Amino acid sequence: MGDLWVAQLIDAGLDADQLPAEAAWSSIRSSLRKSCGERIFDGWLKPLKLAACDLEAGEVRLSAPSAFMATWVQNHFAEQIGAAWRAMLPHVRHVVIEAGADSGRSVPEAAAPEPEMVEAAPVVPTARGTVLDTRYSFDSFVVGKANELAYNAARTLAEGGKLAFNPLFLHGGTGLGKTHLMHAIGQEYRARHPEAQILYMSAEKFMFEFVSALRAKDTHSFKQRLRAADVLMIDDVQFIAGKDSTQEEFFHTMNELISAGRRLVISADRSPQNLDGIESRILSRLSWGLVADINPADFELRYNIIVKKLEALPAGTVPDEVALFLAKRISASIRELEGALNRVIAFATLNNRVIDLDFAQEALAEQLRASQRRVSIDEIQRKVCEHFRIRQTEMGSARRAREVARPRQIAMYLAKQLTQRSLPEIGRRFGGRDHTTVIHAVRTIEALRVKDAEIDADVRLLLRQLEG
Ligand code: ADP
Ligand code: MG
Repeated sequence: MGDLWVAQLIDAGLDADQLPAEAAWSSIRSSLRKSCGERIFDGWLKPLKLAACDLEAGEVRLSAPSAFMATWVQNHFAEQIGAAWRAMLPHVRHVVIEAGADSGRSVPEAAAPEPEMVEAAPVVPTARGTVLDTRYSFDSFVVGKANELAYNAARTLAEGGKLAFNPLFLHGGTGLGKTHLMHAIGQEYRARHPEAQILYMSAEKFMFEFVSALRAKDTHSFKQRLRAADVLMIDDVQFIAGKDSTQEEFFHTMNELISAGRRLVISADRSPQNLDGIESRILSRLSWGLVADINPADFELRYNIIVKKLEALPAGTVPDEVALFLAKRISASIRELEGALNRVIAFATLNNRVIDLDFAQEALAEQLRASQRRVSIDEIQRKVCEHFRIRQTEMGSARRAREVARPRQIAMYLAKQLTQRSLPEIGRRFGGRDHTTVIHAVRTIEALRVKDAEIDADVRLLLRQLEG
């Protein structure tokens, strides 16, 4: 298996001839560049070199051009760098940042900005507005039931015809494609209107710039820049909820842009009504537009997204059974799904292995445990009662007749297996029973599963349903 296809998937900048650890480092660098912002990255992180990587010991050593820089990076970025390594290679435990052998200087060449000025988005403004991430296009966005409303609205807005709605408010949980759609809107609109000013910014950046402008007593140019936008997109506005002066400014800008027929796209991780501290007049303004939600992707959409991502790789690199496995098991967000796929591929390259189901399970063991769906006791009781066709009140009742006692024991057993609840807590949820009753139930079902095939089949079925 060559490195080249990994390069295509993880990071277009990878070189097929690089050593595997170098390949991982290259990909980690681009993720750091994104998470820290261009200026911070160029000033502080770009000069770091991969000095050693001992996967067996779980240690990575990075060298900085000077002792000063090594200390500074260690103090400010150790955690982020460590996390980026672990996201790629989970067995990396320590990342050591040291001064390189040739470190004569004691100050960095360029005065790098302080990390407080970190920009959240990997984008920088240019004369024509924001540089958008070309990976996030409509073409690369896979449409399914969960996101078709948002997708269609985004397309309509981007096509630039007469608008029936404005603003467009996109909301949905994290990692479901909001930012992707915004960048896609920007690119599509720009393709159709090359002269248009397109401004995309995170709400954090909006706030940061606004506050900086206030301090510099120059809110005028900030406002002008925003008001010059043909399309203004503000991502993750939940961050400015409750911040009065920023909100106020945001509202004015929004009003003006809408009145002037400019297109406005706003995203948040929740619906407008659920944004705390957003004033009612902003809410009512938002509701003049279109509020489109993005729901968690169903299995079909998750699978289609993987298939789409695999199109860029040589056929057969990731077998279909692995794609199905990922789609089935990683359901929390598309970001996690992508991360899992990337990890499997990076892992295979680094260890020179062929990707099959066993390998994927091994590579993702930790992540799969972490993302196991949390099941509540209530859900367990409901499912068990449905299965055995008894009333849910029987879970807490004192009746000992076999037809209710057995299901109750099975539910206790499942609660022990599938939740983090303690035995006394479980007992309490079953009509205030003692923890010894729960222990007894767990042991009884364990024993029955071995000798009674019918009970075992019931338990398996319930486990499957509850684990999702
Ligand atoms: P959000 O802004 O909602 O937190 P993002 O837009 O950053 O989520 O999406 C997370 C990742 O998942 C991105 O890499 C994005 O390209 C990908 N993604 C999300 N939805 C889709 C989709 N429908 N098709 C293809 N990729 C998607
Ligand atoms: Mg986002």
